[in-house]
Amino acid sequence: MAIRNIIQIGDETLRKKSFEVTDFGPKTHALLDDMKQTLKKAQGAGLAAPQVGVLRRIFIVDTEDGYFECINPQIISSSGKQNGDEGCLSVKGKYGKVERPMRVKVKAFDRYGQPYIVKAEGFLARAFCHENDHLDGILYIDKASQVMEEK
Ligand SMILES: [Zn+2]
Repeated sequence: MAIRNIIQIGDETLRKKSFEVTDFGPKTHALLDDMKQTLKKAQGAGLAAPQVGVLRRIFIVDTEDGYFECINPQIISSSGKQNGDEGCLSVKGKYGKVERPMRVKVKAFDRYGQPYIVKAEGFLARAFCHENDHLDGILYIDKASQVMEEK
């Protein structure tokens, strides 16, 4: 396992669309393990593969509601609204107010290629939406009503 470098806004990789994952073998497992370690060190709530320079449809989320590895994820339904502060490990020193759904249902594959569905609410739903956007080259600052400097 290794800590990977988290790329920062300005790097065009963050703006590209990621590709579907077809490999559920050791290379993808190594990437996931590295991402987990990288996220832990950065003390974030989520990390998407393009943030470590890999244009694959993979993200991980780690909150008090649990740890999730999502491959080829799809938000299959959403409801409600929430407005709150959001930050991103690729946009250091800033945070913004972003409207997100209150609840989402996400379909994804685990590292072994098994499909699963996870229902999320509140902060976890926000994290899933934020990370999923990364796979399409979208950053929260594109959606934020306000972006502020961290004090
Ligand atoms: Zn982010």
